[in-house]
Amino acid sequence: MNINVTRPFLPPIEVYQRYIEGIWKRNWLTNHGPLVSELELELKHYLELDHLLYVTNGTIALQVAIKALGLSGEIITTPFSYVATTTSILWEGCTPVMVDIDPDTFNINPELIESAITERTSAILATHVYGNPCDVEAIEQIARKHGLKVIYDAAHAFGTKVNGQSVFGYGDMSTCSFHATKLFHTVEGGAIITPRPELLKAASRLRNFGHVTAESFDGIGINGKNSEFHAAMGLCNLNYVDEILARRQFLSERYDSFFANVPLQRPAIRGKVDYNHAYYAVAFPDEKTLLTVVEGLSRYSIAPRRYFYPSLNRLPYLDSQACPVSEDISKRVLALPLYHDLSIEELDLIARIVIRTMRYGL
Ligand SMILES: *Cc1c(COP(=O)(O)O)cnc(C)c1O
Repeated sequence: MNINVTRPFLPPIEVYQRYIEGIWKRNWLTNHGPLVSELELELKHYLELDHLLYVTNGTIALQVAIKALGLSGEIITTPFSYVATTTSILWEGCTPVMVDIDPDTFNINPELIESAITERTSAILATHVYGNPCDVEAIEQIARKHGLKVIYDAAHAFGTKVNGQSVFGYGDMSTCSFHATKLFHTVEGGAIITPRPELLKAASRLRNFGHVTAESFDGIGINGKNSEFHAAMGLCNLNYVDEILARRQFLSERYDSFFANVPLQRPAIRGKVDYNHAYYAVAFPDEKTLLTVVEGLSRYSIAPRRYFYPSLNRLPYLDSQACPVSEDISKRVLALPLYHDLSIEELDLIARIVIRTMRYGL
């Protein structure tokens, strides 16, 4: 038996095959084909959003968002995220300024943002960690007061709602990843979401090399298009997304019931949130306990993931910036296996090994 932290969802192969036959008939493989258009429409419908672009992946989505907003100088961001959040800022020639996280939610701490703002600050780029929304209202207030743009790295947040609406609706732009390991996926893929049509238009040009027409250009674009084959996977998987969300909630609650009396910290969810249960992360009392549990699980070929680790303020190519809370949490946090076809027996085994190794060691 081999259990990984995640396992991609796959639709019935016959359903995917039907889409592929259509692609063969049309011989239209990429460049804004009919399946890409259909996926964009279906996603907007499902998420109840006005503007959404389907792109190559979640990293390109971040880079295009930064460019579409014309950001420069410093961007305030979080050290507790995947490395792409930081590298996309650097790749676009901006400077990431790390603001530490809230020790309860693991999201960027709004109370620390204002003291990091300088005259060079152009934006805030925050991650909805594990799909758990940032304090979007506090961040919006700070941004408005200081004239800053807001981008959310919402790579984990597909299906999460705040006040009954998709969390993708917040900020000037949000980005999502549809990578195979994510809750909803298109093998590789991502999306850019914005409430502002002019930003969608700018991002749409940037996604297509900056083309306005075949022979005229506006802005330094990139190839951010995605293919009909990827869109086909998305159209298949979208039919299962409610089932996927429900299954994850069921499995997460089963973990919860095992851990009710165990000293494990779970990220706090604040406000009126419908959470998507994208990950099941637990913080141990200390790193030593975490390492013991990792070893205990590995003896059963169970591979959780230290996610996120290391804290991004410690990346070797950044000037050192202290973020004690993020550094502490990232040393103690572990994402336990959670995916659609994880069985109850497997989950129970994982939970029992965690509890046993915490209590008695190896
Ligand atoms: C997965 C992920 C990304 C990158 O998305 P890709 O589609 O793999 O490029 C960016 N940020 C976060 C928080 C992620 O989890």
